[in-house]
Amino acid sequence: MAYSRCDGAVWGPLSSDYHQMEEGAKDHLCAQCRQTMLEEEAAKRPAHWDLYAGQYADHLEHFYPSTLQVRSCGDEPVVLVRLTLAEDGPYWGWYFSYHPSNRSSKGIVSFIYRRDFLVDMCFPYGAAAEARRGTGSIVRLSAEILRPAVHPEGI
Ligand SMILES: [Zn+2]
Repeated sequence: MAYSRCDGAVWGPLSSDYHQMEEGAKDHLCAQCRQTMLEEEAAKRPAHWDLYAGQYADHLEHFYPSTLQVRSCGDEPVVLVRLTLAEDGPYWGWYFSYHPSNRSSKGIVSFIYRRDFLVDMCFPYGAAAEARRGTGSIVRLSAEILRPAVHPEGI
């Protein structure tokens, strides 16, 4: 049998945690790492996400965790926005699951656009391939402006 490292194995020069994924597993995980991921997904998945964004006349754009990142995209006013899952929401984004390969991005949403194909384009093999591997999913979102941002904050 060929050696295939589990994505949940800690990888580094001082690590000997090179355990293997289940043979043929689409998510590249062993049973224990998959169980941990599912438990974290159930316990920690956020109900909403607060990000900064640029406020245009009829929409929001450039969603980021810091005002600095939004400012680098344009001169529009920056607002703090709450994103919530919504079937008919005007935005699409990528939800990073608790799959171990997501590392510090677990549980966040990113790549937020007004078209789903723009999210799809963020992945070399398309979002569907990533979703099959369990690293996340395309989500549809509504956005509520909470308040104007004070610059700088949320760095
Ligand atoms: Zn594992």
